[in-house]
Amino acid sequence: MTLLDKILNHNDEFVSTEQYVKFQTTKFPNKKVVILSCMDTRLIELLPSAMNIKNGDAKIIKNAGAIISHPFGSVMRSILVALYELQADEVMIVGHHGCGMAGLESKSVLEKAATRGVDMQQIRDLEFLGIDVTSFLKGFDKVEDSVRHSVEMVNKHPLLPNDVPVHGLVIHPETGKLDLIIDGYKK
Ligand SMILES: [Zn+2]
Repeated sequence: MTLLDKILNHNDEFVSTEQYVKFQTTKFPNKKVVILSCMDTRLIELLPSAMNIKNGDAKIIKNAGAIISHPFGSVMRSILVALYELQADEVMIVGHHGCGMAGLESKSVLEKAATRGVDMQQIRDLEFLGIDVTSFLKGFDKVEDSVRHSVEMVNKHPLLPNDVPVHGLVIHPETGKLDLIIDGYKK
C-alpha cells in the first residue's frame, strides 16, 4: 500500500468515527500570536507542547529554517495577514538548534540535483539572467543570527503595525527548552 493510500484509509476512519471533534475551533488564534518556525520533524508536536500551544491557539507558519528570506515573500505576507485579518497581535520567530539549514551550502544541493538528472546548464542560464540560485539555496551559519535577522526583517517591514511585539527564540529539538534571543516587548 502506498503512503497516500494509507493516509486516505486512515482519513476515512478518522472522519467516520468523528475523531475531529476534539480539534474543533475557529480560525482566530486564542493566544493572538503568529509563530514562524522550522519544518523539522522533531518539532511537529514538541514545539506546540513546549510552548503550551493547543489547536486554535496560534497561527503557525513553517519553512526550512524558520527563515524570512524576502520582505515581500509568502512568509512575510502570511505574518501580515495573521496580524491584520486574523487577530494576531504578536509575532514569534522560533528557530532551533541542530537545524538542517545551519551550514547548508548551495554546492551540496546543486551536486545532488545534478546526480538526480537536473539540467545544470539551465541553472547556469538562470544565474546568467540574474537569479541568484547560490544564495537561494544557502542556509545560515548560526541559528541565533538567523533569528535576529528574521526579527529585524519583520520589525523593519513598512506594513508592520507599530504596536506589534516581535520576539525571537531558539528551541532545543530534544528537550523543548526555549532560549530567548529577542524580547519583543523591549523595543
Ligand atoms: Zn530546522
